[in-house]
Amino acid sequence: MKFVLATHNQKKLAELQKILSDFGVEVVTEADVGVDVEVEETGETFAENSLLKAKAVMEATGLPAIADDSGLCVDALGGGPGVYSARYGGEGLTDRDRYMLLLQNMRGQTSRAAHFSCCITAAFPNGDVLQAEGQCPGTIAFVPMGDDGFGYNPVFFVPEKKRTFAQMTAEERVEFSHRGNALRAFREKLAEYLKGKKDQRE
Ligand code: IMP
Repeated sequence: MKFVLATHNQKKLAELQKILSDFGVEVVTEADVGVDVEVEETGETFAENSLLKAKAVMEATGLPAIADDSGLCVDALGGGPGVYSARYGGEGLTDRDRYMLLLQNMRGQTSRAAHFSCCITAAFPNGDVLQAEGQCPGTIAFVPMGDDGFGYNPVFFVPEKKRTFAQMTAEERVEFSHRGNALRAFREKLAEYLKGKKDQRE
């Protein structure tokens, strides 16, 4: 089955494309099918926002679409920035500006627990929807370390690995990241869904 991936983030796209193709799912980008869908993320949860994105791209293309919505949830900030992670601090900031702002807002905080969360949604032209979530626990580092990937990677420290996300390769991260966990759960749901469809036809 072919899916259109609903994301404009090139680094996220590469991560999603790699994992999904490893799972044997064919994925194309919005650009590949000639659409460029802008979606306002008005939801209050990762599940709501990923559904908004997947539905918009499915409606624009007539093809099954997959979207993810993710973010960083910091205990000491009441779970924030959460669904506002990409917009933390306002428009026009760089990733670095945002994680430096986060470190500033965490100054003096001894409780540094945080987790990344991700929801993957597939929306099908017949109205069916599949959703799966994944998390990755960690802590907020005191200084940025490493430069791989995007977003808050340099300040997201994984105690078991003794490194930040930005000090790992994409392959290492995906083994236990929120997106990797969500995609593995999604793969199982998709397999069940496709089996159900096949059984219906027989
Ligand atoms: P989305 O594109 O609306 O899902 O925004 C998610 C935002 O959360 C990104 O712009 C990043 O700031 C942050 N984020 C989500 N996943 C990751 C990750 O794996 N590493 C670093 N930052 C992430």
